[in-house]
Amino acid sequence: MNLSECQQFLLNNQADIFALTEKLVAINSGTFHLAGLQKVCEILQQEFSALGCEQSIMPVAPFEIINDKGQTDELELGSVLRCWKRAEASIQVLLIGHMDTVFPHDHKFQQPKKIGGDILNGPGAADMKGGIAIMLWALKAFEQLPEAKNLGWEVLLTSDEEIGSPGSEEIIRQIAKKHKIGFVFEPAMDDKGTLAGQRKGSAKYALVMHGKAAHAGRHFAEGRNAICKMAEYINKIDALNGRREGVTINVGMIHGGEALNIVPDCCVCRLDIRFPTKEDAEWVNTNLNTIIKNLEPESGYKIELHGGIERSPKLLDENTLRLYNLVQEVGSTLGQNLTWQPSGGCCDGNILSAMGIPNVDTLGARGGKIHSEHEYIIIPSLVERANLLCAILSHLSLHGF
Ligand SMILES: [Zn+2]
Repeated sequence: MNLSECQQFLLNNQADIFALTEKLVAINSGTFHLAGLQKVCEILQQEFSALGCEQSIMPVAPFEIINDKGQTDELELGSVLRCWKRAEASIQVLLIGHMDTVFPHDHKFQQPKKIGGDILNGPGAADMKGGIAIMLWALKAFEQLPEAKNLGWEVLLTSDEEIGSPGSEEIIRQIAKKHKIGFVFEPAMDDKGTLAGQRKGSAKYALVMHGKAAHAGRHFAEGRNAICKMAEYINKIDALNGRREGVTINVGMIHGGEALNIVPDCCVCRLDIRFPTKEDAEWVNTNLNTIIKNLEPESGYKIELHGGIERSPKLLDENTLRLYNLVQEVGSTLGQNLTWQPSGGCCDGNILSAMGIPNVDTLGARGGKIHSEHEYIIIPSLVERANLLCAILSHLSLHGF
């Protein structure tokens, strides 16, 4: 086959690419729904085995989280599916996807729904079950090209991306050491297929305030109200917003109190922080620590700060920009006009960038409204993006990077 026959092959298999996407969307694979993740993983093991690749399942360490009572919980995470072919080839490419979605098994948004001829609405359709189908079918086409023999590829499908890859990050880092180029199949930024360029980094913190419980009627004065004290701190933390360019601090969740007639002795507050550079992250960390250190020790309260940087920023350095240009150039040969824009969101591309590995991380389907019940993909973009990846791999096999 040549490249234009590959395009025809993908077009001929449009219905199957769509059917796989729809099948995966219909299985709930919320990050903590291990049975659902397992089902998705088994289907994909089967699908990828058609490529004649090697496979392994890599278990992931449990994830520690501060629960709503301020205690540490351990949560089990799903495994990583790893598939690879031609590990000895001189050009190696790493392809990363995630099987988990943000929708838990008891969420009301569970099933795919076709809208008109071209739209599929469904949980994880864009983020990123469509992206996984694109990856698989692009490889099916690519493997029929004579130049495929020059290039080895490795696919990692993780189960915890939606909570910041706390378990799979180590595996990604380990595997990525062998690679000089990465592609990630997060959905495009919009209907036009715009790629994400530079990405901010993210940090997550949990603040735990301990006070003292007391009966709200009999011994009110003996209590130390953890919710009220936390509120003072929240105001100080929120006031950091606007003080440093590009840095945002979202006080996103708060939990406290057990009964209305008890002075609450514990309050947990969670922060989501986005920042353009590592220095900005240090600035935030220093300020948070200064704020909590100023709690008077004799006051009867105690505050703890847990968490830190989750993902480093993705910057478009020279090599990364070169890869974006290559993708753009290949896209133009297919009549696809690809541009990119900065994003405040993070993904596993941030991990590769932190390791100095150039990557383009939004090669998944065109669509939008991700993380909501309106999530959708534009169905023809499945074939279009599979064509794009196949042509990129062909280009790399013939010309290197
Ligand atoms: Zn995603």
